[in-house]
Amino acid sequence: MLIRNGRVLDVESGDYLTSSRLRITDGVVVEIGPSLTATGGDTIDAGDRVVMPGLIDAHVHPMLSSLDVGSLRDQPVTLLAQKARIEMEHMLRRGFTTARDACGGDRGLADAVATGLINGPRLFVSGRALSQTGGHGDSRTASDFCAAHSDVAARIADGVAEVRRAAREELKAGADQLKIMASGGVASPSDEIWTLQYTVEEMRAVVEEAAARRTYVLAHAYTAEAITRAVTAGVRSIEHGNLLDADAAALMAEHSVFLVPTLITYQKIHELGGQFGMPAGQRRKVTDVIDAGLGSLKLARDAGVEIGFGSDLLGELQVHQSGEFRVRSRVEEPIETIRSATIVNAQLLGVAGEVGVLRPGAQADLLIVDGDPLSDATELADPDRIDLVLRAGQVRYGR
Ligand SMILES: [Zn+2]
Repeated sequence: MLIRNGRVLDVESGDYLTSSRLRITDGVVVEIGPSLTATGGDTIDAGDRVVMPGLIDAHVHPMLSSLDVGSLRDQPVTLLAQKARIEMEHMLRRGFTTARDACGGDRGLADAVATGLINGPRLFVSGRALSQTGGHGDSRTASDFCAAHSDVAARIADGVAEVRRAAREELKAGADQLKIMASGGVASPSDEIWTLQYTVEEMRAVVEEAAARRTYVLAHAYTAEAITRAVTAGVRSIEHGNLLDADAAALMAEHSVFLVPTLITYQKIHELGGQFGMPAGQRRKVTDVIDAGLGSLKLARDAGVEIGFGSDLLGELQVHQSGEFRVRSRVEEPIETIRSATIVNAQLLGVAGEVGVLRPGAQADLLIVDGDPLSDATELADPDRIDLVLRAGQVRYGR
Protein backbone atom coordinates (compact mmCIF):
# COMPACT_ATOMS: atom_id res chain seq x y z
CA MET A 1 0.00 0.00 0.00
CA LEU A 2 1.20 3.50 -0.81
CA ILE A 3 0.02 6.56 1.07
CA ARG A 4 0.72 9.72 -0.86
CA ASN A 5 0.08 13.41 -0.64
CA GLY A 6 0.21 13.52 3.17
CA ARG A 7 2.01 15.68 5.69
CA VAL A 8 3.71 12.99 7.76
CA LEU A 9 4.01 13.98 11.42
CA ASP A 10 7.47 13.14 12.74
CA VAL A 11 6.74 13.02 16.47
CA GLU A 12 10.43 12.95 17.37
CA SER A 13 11.36 16.20 15.61
CA GLY A 14 7.91 17.69 16.15
CA ASP A 15 7.54 18.64 12.50
CA TYR A 16 5.65 17.68 9.36
CA LEU A 17 7.53 16.10 6.48
CA THR A 18 5.76 17.72 3.55
CA SER A 19 4.79 15.75 0.44
CA SER A 20 6.09 12.53 1.87
CA ARG A 21 5.00 9.14 0.72
CA LEU A 22 4.87 6.05 2.79
CA ARG A 23 5.01 2.44 1.61
CA ILE A 24 3.50 -0.38 3.66
CA THR A 25 4.13 -4.09 3.08
CA ASP A 26 2.75 -6.92 5.22
CA GLY A 27 1.49 -4.49 7.85
CA VAL A 28 4.84 -2.78 8.33
CA VAL A 29 6.15 0.60 7.14
CA VAL A 30 8.98 -0.18 4.73
CA GLU A 31 9.83 3.17 3.16
CA ILE A 32 9.19 6.87 3.64
CA GLY A 33 10.26 9.38 1.03
CA PRO A 34 9.17 12.04 -1.44
CA SER A 35 9.32 10.05 -4.66
CA LEU A 36 8.08 6.52 -3.93
CA THR A 37 5.91 5.06 -6.67
CA ALA A 38 3.08 2.57 -6.48
CA THR A 39 4.04 -1.03 -7.15
CA GLY A 40 0.65 -2.55 -7.70
CA GLY A 41 -0.98 -2.35 -4.26
CA ASP A 42 -3.63 0.07 -3.07
CA THR A 43 -2.90 3.79 -3.06
CA ILE A 44 -4.44 6.15 -0.55
CA ASP A 45 -4.44 9.84 -1.32
CA ALA A 46 -4.15 11.69 1.99
CA GLY A 47 -5.30 14.89 0.31
CA ASP A 48 -2.68 17.06 2.05
CA ARG A 49 -3.99 15.99 5.45
CA VAL A 50 -1.80 14.91 8.38
CA VAL A 51 -0.51 11.34 8.51
CA MET A 52 0.54 10.44 12.03
CA PRO A 53 1.28 7.36 14.14
CA GLY A 54 -1.70 5.69 15.82
CA LEU A 55 -2.26 6.77 19.41
CA ILE A 56 -1.42 4.71 22.50
CA ASP A 57 -3.43 4.80 25.72
CA ALA A 58 -1.42 3.30 28.60
CA HIS A 59 -4.31 2.98 31.05
CA VAL A 60 -7.65 1.55 29.90
CA HIS A 61 -10.22 -0.81 31.44
CA PRO A 62 -12.57 -2.10 28.72
CA MET A 63 -13.65 -5.01 30.96
CA LEU A 64 -14.80 -2.66 33.73
CA SER A 65 -18.12 -1.69 32.23
CA SER A 66 -19.56 -0.14 35.39
CA LEU A 67 -18.53 2.73 37.64
CA ASP A 68 -19.61 0.51 40.50
CA VAL A 69 -16.72 -1.92 40.19
CA GLY A 70 -18.02 -4.08 43.03
CA SER A 71 -21.19 -4.81 41.03
CA LEU A 72 -19.20 -6.43 38.22
CA ARG A 73 -18.90 -9.64 40.20
CA ASP A 74 -22.63 -10.19 39.51
CA GLN A 75 -22.07 -10.39 35.76
CA PRO A 76 -20.73 -13.40 33.83
CA VAL A 77 -17.29 -12.75 32.43
CA THR A 78 -18.53 -13.65 28.95
CA LEU A 79 -20.98 -10.74 29.12
CA LEU A 80 -18.24 -8.38 30.31
CA ALA A 81 -16.06 -9.52 27.42
CA GLN A 82 -18.77 -8.66 24.91
CA LYS A 83 -19.06 -5.19 26.40
CA ALA A 84 -15.27 -4.89 26.30
CA ARG A 85 -15.30 -5.75 22.61
CA ILE A 86 -17.61 -2.83 21.86
CA GLU A 87 -15.47 -0.43 23.92
CA MET A 88 -12.33 -1.56 22.15
CA GLU A 89 -13.92 -1.00 18.75
CA HIS A 90 -14.73 2.54 19.82
CA MET A 91 -11.17 3.09 21.06
CA LEU A 92 -9.82 2.14 17.67
CA ARG A 93 -12.28 4.48 15.97
CA ARG A 94 -10.94 7.28 18.20
CA GLY A 95 -7.45 6.63 16.84
CA PHE A 96 -6.01 4.45 19.61
CA THR A 97 -4.26 1.62 17.80
CA THR A 98 -2.47 0.33 20.93
CA ALA A 99 -3.62 0.22 24.55
CA ARG A 100 -2.35 -1.10 27.84
CA ASP A 101 -5.13 -2.68 29.85
CA ALA A 102 -4.38 -1.64 33.43
CA CYS A 103 -6.43 -4.51 34.93
CA GLY A 104 -9.46 -6.57 34.02
CA GLY A 105 -8.37 -7.54 30.52
CA ASP A 106 -6.63 -10.87 30.04
CA ARG A 107 -4.81 -12.85 27.36
CA GLY A 108 -8.12 -13.73 25.72
CA LEU A 109 -8.89 -10.10 24.87
CA ALA A 110 -5.38 -9.49 23.54
CA ASP A 111 -5.48 -12.65 21.44
CA ALA A 112 -8.94 -11.79 20.13
CA VAL A 113 -7.47 -8.56 18.73
CA ALA A 114 -4.37 -10.27 17.41
CA THR A 115 -6.43 -12.89 15.55
CA GLY A 116 -8.94 -10.42 14.15
CA LEU A 117 -11.95 -11.37 16.28
CA ILE A 118 -12.05 -7.87 17.79
CA ASN A 119 -11.43 -4.81 15.67
CA GLY A 120 -9.69 -2.99 18.51
CA PRO A 121 -6.31 -1.64 19.58
CA ARG A 122 -3.42 -4.08 19.98
CA LEU A 123 -3.60 -4.79 23.68
CA PHE A 124 -1.02 -5.23 26.46
CA VAL A 125 -2.86 -6.86 29.34
CA SER A 126 -2.18 -6.81 33.09
CA GLY A 127 -4.64 -9.55 34.05
CA ARG A 128 -6.06 -9.01 37.51
CA ALA A 129 -4.31 -6.38 39.64
CA LEU A 130 -2.73 -7.45 42.91
CA SER A 131 -4.21 -5.77 45.98
CA GLN A 132 -3.83 -6.23 49.70
CA THR A 133 -6.86 -6.92 51.89
CA GLY A 134 -8.74 -3.64 52.23
CA GLY A 135 -6.75 -2.17 49.34
CA HIS A 136 -7.85 -0.45 46.15
CA GLY A 137 -8.56 -3.80 44.50
CA ASP A 138 -10.70 -5.09 47.37
CA SER A 139 -14.18 -4.42 46.02
CA ARG A 140 -15.96 -5.95 49.02
CA THR A 141 -17.80 -3.53 51.25
CA ALA A 142 -16.10 -2.67 54.53
CA SER A 143 -18.17 -5.23 56.46
CA ASP A 144 -18.09 -8.02 53.87
CA PHE A 145 -15.61 -10.81 54.51
CA CYS A 146 -17.66 -13.49 52.77
CA ALA A 147 -17.42 -12.60 49.09
CA ALA A 148 -14.65 -14.09 46.98
CA HIS A 149 -11.18 -12.62 47.32
CA SER A 150 -10.96 -11.88 43.64
CA ASP A 151 -13.08 -10.36 40.90
CA VAL A 152 -12.53 -9.50 37.27
CA ALA A 153 -10.42 -6.44 38.15
CA ALA A 154 -8.24 -7.59 41.02
CA ARG A 155 -7.22 -10.37 43.35
CA ILE A 156 -6.31 -10.07 46.98
CA ALA A 157 -2.93 -11.34 48.10
CA ASP A 158 -1.20 -10.54 51.39
CA GLY A 159 2.38 -11.21 52.39
CA VAL A 160 5.38 -12.06 50.27
CA ALA A 161 4.43 -15.70 49.69
CA GLU A 162 0.90 -14.87 48.53
CA VAL A 163 1.92 -12.01 46.26
CA ARG A 164 4.54 -14.22 44.63
CA ARG A 165 1.96 -16.89 43.94
CA ALA A 166 -0.54 -14.33 42.65
CA ALA A 167 2.12 -12.76 40.40
CA ARG A 168 3.13 -16.15 39.05
CA GLU A 169 -0.48 -17.11 38.37
CA GLU A 170 -1.21 -13.89 36.48
CA LEU A 171 1.97 -14.32 34.43
CA LYS A 172 1.16 -17.96 33.75
CA ALA A 173 -2.28 -16.87 32.53
CA GLY A 174 -0.59 -14.61 30.00
CA ALA A 175 -0.36 -11.16 31.57
CA ASP A 176 2.05 -8.95 29.60
CA GLN A 177 2.91 -7.01 32.78
CA LEU A 178 1.70 -6.89 36.38
CA LYS A 179 -0.33 -4.24 38.16
CA ILE A 180 -0.20 -3.56 41.90
CA MET A 181 -2.30 -1.29 44.06
CA ALA A 182 0.21 0.72 46.11
CA SER A 183 -2.18 3.24 47.64
CA GLY A 184 -5.83 4.00 48.18
CA GLY A 185 -7.97 4.91 45.21
CA VAL A 186 -11.26 6.42 44.16
CA ALA A 187 -13.27 3.43 42.88
CA SER A 188 -12.97 1.23 45.98
CA PRO A 189 -15.20 1.07 49.06
CA SER A 190 -12.98 0.86 52.13
CA ASP A 191 -9.73 2.79 51.63
CA GLU A 192 -8.92 6.50 51.75
CA ILE A 193 -6.70 7.94 48.99
CA TRP A 194 -3.83 8.51 51.45
CA THR A 195 -3.64 4.91 52.70
CA LEU A 196 -0.35 3.14 52.02
CA GLN A 197 -0.84 -0.31 50.54
CA TYR A 198 1.61 -3.18 50.33
CA THR A 199 4.94 -3.14 52.09
CA VAL A 200 8.05 -2.39 50.07
CA GLU A 201 8.99 -6.03 50.65
CA GLU A 202 5.76 -7.30 49.08
CA MET A 203 6.14 -4.94 46.11
CA ARG A 204 9.77 -5.99 45.63
CA ALA A 205 8.65 -9.62 45.43
CA VAL A 206 6.19 -8.79 42.64
CA VAL A 207 8.84 -6.79 40.77
CA GLU A 208 11.21 -9.74 41.08
CA GLU A 209 8.62 -12.16 39.68
CA ALA A 210 7.93 -9.81 36.76
CA ALA A 211 11.64 -9.36 36.06
CA ALA A 212 12.11 -13.13 36.05
CA ARG A 213 9.68 -13.16 33.11
CA ARG A 214 11.40 -10.14 31.54
CA THR A 215 8.52 -7.85 32.20
CA TYR A 216 7.65 -5.11 34.69
CA VAL A 217 5.18 -3.77 37.24
CA LEU A 218 2.90 -0.75 37.05
CA ALA A 219 1.80 0.72 40.36
CA HIS A 220 -1.40 2.57 41.16
CA ALA A 221 -0.29 5.31 43.61
CA TYR A 222 -1.38 8.83 44.55
CA THR A 223 0.63 10.32 47.40
CA ALA A 224 4.32 11.20 47.40
CA GLU A 225 4.89 8.65 50.15
CA ALA A 226 3.15 5.82 48.27
CA ILE A 227 5.01 6.76 45.08
CA THR A 228 8.36 6.79 46.90
CA ARG A 229 7.76 3.30 48.30
CA ALA A 230 6.72 1.88 44.93
CA VAL A 231 9.69 3.45 43.14
CA THR A 232 12.01 2.09 45.82
CA ALA A 233 10.54 -1.37 45.19
CA GLY A 234 11.43 -1.11 41.50
CA VAL A 235 8.18 -0.49 39.59
CA ARG A 236 8.36 0.84 36.04
CA SER A 237 5.45 3.26 36.08
CA ILE A 238 3.36 5.22 38.54
CA GLU A 239 -0.28 5.37 37.52
CA HIS A 240 -2.17 8.59 38.41
CA GLY A 241 0.43 10.16 40.77
CA ASN A 242 -1.74 13.21 41.40
CA LEU A 243 -0.26 13.98 44.84
CA LEU A 244 3.36 13.84 43.71
CA ASP A 245 5.86 16.24 45.26
CA ALA A 246 9.25 17.48 44.04
CA ASP A 247 11.25 14.91 46.01
CA ALA A 248 9.19 11.98 44.77
CA ALA A 249 9.42 13.34 41.22
CA ALA A 250 13.22 13.55 41.53
CA LEU A 251 13.31 9.95 42.74
CA MET A 252 11.17 8.85 39.80
CA ALA A 253 13.53 10.59 37.38
CA GLU A 254 16.56 9.03 39.07
CA HIS A 255 15.05 5.54 38.64
CA SER A 256 13.69 6.24 35.11
CA VAL A 257 10.14 5.59 36.32
CA PHE A 258 7.34 6.80 34.03
CA LEU A 259 4.35 8.80 35.22
CA VAL A 260 1.01 7.92 33.62
CA PRO A 261 -1.46 10.69 34.50
CA THR A 262 -5.14 9.89 33.95
CA LEU A 263 -6.76 13.28 34.43
CA ILE A 264 -9.91 12.92 32.35
CA THR A 265 -11.27 10.25 34.68
CA TYR A 266 -11.49 12.62 37.69
CA GLN A 267 -13.17 15.32 35.66
CA LYS A 268 -15.78 12.91 34.29
CA ILE A 269 -16.40 11.15 37.63
CA HIS A 270 -16.89 14.60 39.16
CA GLU A 271 -19.38 15.59 36.44
CA LEU A 272 -21.15 12.31 35.78
CA GLY A 273 -20.20 9.74 38.42
CA GLY A 274 -23.46 10.03 40.33
CA GLN A 275 -25.57 9.75 37.20
CA PHE A 276 -23.82 6.52 36.20
CA GLY A 277 -23.98 4.74 39.54
CA MET A 278 -20.66 5.36 41.28
CA PRO A 279 -21.35 5.03 45.02
CA ALA A 280 -21.29 8.39 46.85
CA GLY A 281 -18.52 7.32 49.22
CA GLN A 282 -16.24 6.77 46.22
CA ARG A 283 -17.22 9.94 44.33
CA ARG A 284 -16.31 11.97 47.39
CA LYS A 285 -12.68 10.84 47.09
CA VAL A 286 -12.29 12.54 43.70
CA THR A 287 -12.09 15.88 45.51
CA ASP A 288 -8.85 14.69 47.16
CA VAL A 289 -7.05 14.36 43.84
CA ILE A 290 -8.76 16.36 41.10
CA ASP A 291 -7.13 19.75 41.69
CA ALA A 292 -3.60 18.44 42.20
CA GLY A 293 -3.60 16.50 38.92
CA LEU A 294 -2.41 19.24 36.59
CA GLY A 295 0.23 20.35 39.12
CA SER A 296 1.72 16.85 39.18
CA LEU A 297 2.42 17.16 35.45
CA LYS A 298 4.54 20.27 35.97
CA LEU A 299 6.42 18.74 38.91
CA ALA A 300 7.17 15.63 36.87
CA ARG A 301 8.23 17.55 33.77
CA ASP A 302 10.49 19.88 35.78
CA ALA A 303 12.17 16.86 37.37
CA GLY A 304 12.74 15.20 33.99
CA VAL A 305 10.25 12.35 34.45
CA GLU A 306 8.95 10.77 31.24
CA ILE A 307 5.21 11.39 31.12
CA GLY A 308 2.94 8.89 29.38
CA PHE A 309 -0.71 9.19 28.44
CA GLY A 310 -3.67 7.40 30.05
CA SER A 311 -7.39 7.80 30.51
CA ASP A 312 -8.52 5.24 33.13
CA LEU A 313 -12.23 5.62 32.42
CA LEU A 314 -14.76 3.09 33.66
CA GLY A 315 -18.21 2.12 32.46
CA GLU A 316 -20.20 4.68 30.51
CA LEU A 317 -17.41 7.25 30.91
CA GLN A 318 -15.13 5.45 28.47
CA VAL A 319 -16.62 7.45 25.61
CA HIS A 320 -14.61 10.44 26.94
CA GLN A 321 -11.20 8.78 26.39
CA SER A 322 -9.88 11.41 23.97
CA GLY A 323 -10.90 14.19 26.38
CA GLU A 324 -7.50 13.62 28.00
CA PHE A 325 -6.05 15.71 25.15
CA ARG A 326 -8.28 18.62 26.20
CA VAL A 327 -7.31 18.41 29.88
CA ARG A 328 -3.62 18.26 29.14
CA SER A 329 -3.74 21.12 26.64
CA ARG A 330 -4.23 23.44 29.63
CA VAL A 331 -0.63 22.90 30.73
CA GLU A 332 1.21 21.29 27.82
CA GLU A 333 2.36 22.16 24.33
CA PRO A 334 0.60 20.07 21.66
CA ILE A 335 3.78 18.14 20.78
CA GLU A 336 4.31 17.21 24.44
CA THR A 337 0.92 15.54 24.70
CA ILE A 338 1.33 13.91 21.28
CA ARG A 339 4.71 12.48 22.29
CA SER A 340 3.20 11.14 25.52
CA ALA A 341 0.52 9.31 23.51
CA THR A 342 3.01 7.92 20.99
CA ILE A 343 6.76 7.54 21.55
CA VAL A 344 6.79 7.84 25.35
CA ASN A 345 4.03 5.27 25.81
CA ALA A 346 5.79 2.99 23.32
CA GLN A 347 8.94 3.15 25.47
CA LEU A 348 6.88 2.45 28.57
CA LEU A 349 5.32 -0.62 26.94
CA GLY A 350 8.72 -1.84 25.75
CA VAL A 351 7.89 -1.48 22.06
CA ALA A 352 9.83 1.68 21.11
CA GLY A 353 10.36 1.84 17.36
CA GLU A 354 7.58 -0.69 16.71
CA VAL A 355 4.56 1.49 17.46
CA GLY A 356 4.04 5.19 18.18
CA VAL A 357 6.29 6.21 15.32
CA LEU A 358 6.27 6.13 11.52
CA ARG A 359 9.60 4.89 10.28
CA PRO A 360 10.83 1.87 8.32
CA GLY A 361 10.33 -1.26 10.41
CA ALA A 362 7.49 0.14 12.51
CA GLN A 363 3.98 -1.32 12.51
CA ALA A 364 1.77 0.46 10.02
CA ASP A 365 -0.50 1.88 12.71
CA LEU A 366 -1.46 5.31 11.45
CA LEU A 367 -4.11 7.97 11.30
CA ILE A 368 -5.07 10.49 8.67
CA VAL A 369 -6.15 13.61 10.50
CA ASP A 370 -7.97 16.56 9.00
CA GLY A 371 -6.34 19.44 10.86
CA ASP A 372 -3.10 20.56 12.43
CA PRO A 373 -2.57 18.69 15.72
CA LEU A 374 0.88 20.27 16.13
CA SER A 375 -0.90 23.61 16.58
CA ASP A 376 -3.79 22.20 18.57
CA ALA A 377 -3.64 18.69 20.03
CA THR A 378 -7.28 18.93 21.11
CA GLU A 379 -8.17 18.23 17.49
CA LEU A 380 -7.30 14.62 18.35
CA ALA A 381 -10.16 14.68 20.85
CA ASP A 382 -12.59 15.05 17.97
CA PRO A 383 -13.14 11.71 16.19
CA ASP A 384 -14.73 13.56 13.27
CA ARG A 385 -11.27 14.85 12.39
CA ILE A 386 -9.82 11.35 12.20
CA ASP A 387 -10.63 10.28 8.67
CA LEU A 388 -8.68 7.03 8.51
CA VAL A 389 -7.39 4.50 11.04
CA LEU A 390 -4.92 1.87 9.92
CA ARG A 391 -3.66 -0.84 12.28
CA ALA A 392 -1.05 -3.31 11.11
CA GLY A 393 -1.47 -1.98 7.59
CA GLN A 394 -5.20 -2.64 7.36
CA VAL A 395 -7.90 -0.02 7.13
CA ARG A 396 -9.93 -0.33 10.35
CA TYR A 397 -11.95 2.79 9.81
CA GLY A 398 -11.97 5.08 6.81
CA ARG A 399 -13.93 7.54 4.79
ZN1 LIG B 1 -7.17 2.34 36.44
